[in-house]
Amino acid sequence: MIAAVLLAFQVAAAPAMQGSDAAPVRLPSSSAHRTVVVDAGHGGPDNGMTGPIGARWKIYEKNITLQVAKKLATALRQRGLRVVMTRTTDTLIALSDRGRIANDHHADLFVSIHVNAANPAWKDPGAARGFETYFLAEAKTEDAKRVEQMENASVRFETDVSASKGDPLNFIMNDMAQNEHLRESSELADFIQQHLGAIEPGPSRGVKQAGFRVLVTAYMPAVLVEIGFGTNPADARFITNPARQKEIAGSIADATVEYLDHYQRRLGVSTP
Ligand SMILES: [Zn+2]
Repeated sequence: MIAAVLLAFQVAAAPAMQGSDAAPVRLPSSSAHRTVVVDAGHGGPDNGMTGPIGARWKIYEKNITLQVAKKLATALRQRGLRVVMTRTTDTLIALSDRGRIANDHHADLFVSIHVNAANPAWKDPGAARGFETYFLAEAKTEDAKRVEQMENASVRFETDVSASKGDPLNFIMNDMAQNEHLRESSELADFIQQHLGAIEPGPSRGVKQAGFRVLVTAYMPAVLVEIGFGTNPADARFITNPARQKEIAGSIADATVEYLDHYQRRLGVSTP
């Protein structure tokens, strides 16, 4: 309920705020020289999800996220953007540190790459497939809560529990710095879903919202992309194929550039 009110406030207040003296924290001057943090989900002892269901072969989410993240970094650099990766090897980075890395580099955007997994209790879990993009807010649906819990579970691999203390949602609701970016984050998520829709074989599951710990500490527009279901054999084949990974990376990079250009144009129009 609180989240819904905040969201409504953000959508209503954002255009007015841009035209007033209360300027947003970070005003892009052009889409070039922007810094994007590319975050490969999981790593090290945290394998993330494993799949696919009923297959003789096995995939680990942490490997796919790293492969796609590296290709995304290349694609973004080819488009003139600066890129910082939270990890480039098979290592564990605390969820709270991933956002901190982005803040330290004064990044403009934060993009986290993940692979989805079906709930084993579903009627036909192996059949679930498709791609979805999340931005940070209170989870609205049971399905969004499932993905939120799954991705936040990575915190159990972290030895420094003090860093992850407290309810992340309370933190979000008290943190206007992140709330300022709700609208931008949901727009970036929209562009990513549109571009992925052109190349993904599975259905678009849409733009969703959830309280991901990895996004909480990033003080900038931030999204988490579930590029497919590793539990589904067809999706698993798609997201592990290097050529298809390159297409996924290219689509997310195109969406990022389009978002930055769109954001830039809107600022240009609304600034007196
Ligand atoms: Zn994940």
